[in-house]
Amino acid sequence: MTTSYIGRFAPSPSGPLHFGSLIAAVGSYLRARAEGGQWLVRIEDIDPPREVAGAADRILRTLDAHGLHWDGSLLYQSDRSERYDAILNDLTKLGLCYPCSCTRKRVQSLGGVYDGRCRLHGPENDQVALRLHNTAAIAAFDDPLLGRTETDPHFAGEDFILKRRDGLYAYQLAVVVDDHDQGITEVVRGNDLLEATVRQLTLFQQLDWPAPAYLHLPLAVWSDGNKLSKQNHAPALDDATPGANLVRALTFLGQPVEPGWAHLPPGELLEQAVSRFDLDRIPRQRNLPAAL
Ligand code: GLU
Repeated sequence: MTTSYIGRFAPSPSGPLHFGSLIAAVGSYLRARAEGGQWLVRIEDIDPPREVAGAADRILRTLDAHGLHWDGSLLYQSDRSERYDAILNDLTKLGLCYPCSCTRKRVQSLGGVYDGRCRLHGPENDQVALRLHNTAAIAAFDDPLLGRTETDPHFAGEDFILKRRDGLYAYQLAVVVDDHDQGITEVVRGNDLLEATVRQLTLFQQLDWPAPAYLHLPLAVWSDGNKLSKQNHAPALDDATPGANLVRALTFLGQPVEPGWAHLPPGELLEQAVSRFDLDRIPRQRNLPAAL
């Protein structure tokens, strides 16, 4: 079966993969393979201050150890500055991007949503970020798993940042340009990114590009409800136990697991899991405690 489905996994190299990131990797992989499609991997290394030396290679080794083999060549966002700048120029020419000197403190004093001051009055100095002139706010979308999904319209209408004042590209810009250029047809990731999704849909609309579908998986949390993250010391995946890790990920995603699967070679285990993949069995809860 071959279809035009193209999915992806897009880790940031700010640390090794943990169980939460494995969910996004396995969920996007199963969906892509069950659709007979491609699964790409992109390294989102556009934020050097948050990057951990060696993390990108370690992530790739972990994917490999878990049988999560990607199609085509890897894309590194750090190689893409020229392309991002070209898109910022296009948006500027269309009047859809403007320099903004407002501080984070000022935006916080407004309640966290920017009011467009510099669009109306111009920046006050040359320490500027670039913001989208948001004329196509999208606040809701249809998620193939969750159905109609609504977010705060006030937040969705914000002129959000495309390039930071420190010269770094914003995640929203880089991810949209790359998802477009890589021909991604569906993004599968954790539902901590619902707000990012509406921003990305907005940017696709402003660029007049067709947007992919967005499917959100339950988020792995600790028993106290906090998201598993590098910041709160979610343990790195052990590359020596890929079968057990994959079985835990499949169980978290509500997928059928047979006794003994933890001892299969990971590639074989994933093949079995793909052939039984059932989207409807994925829990629709926003958060789900991870049994680590
Ligand atoms: N790089 C982002 C992260 O690691 C994921 C972005 C995405 O899937 O769009 O959280």
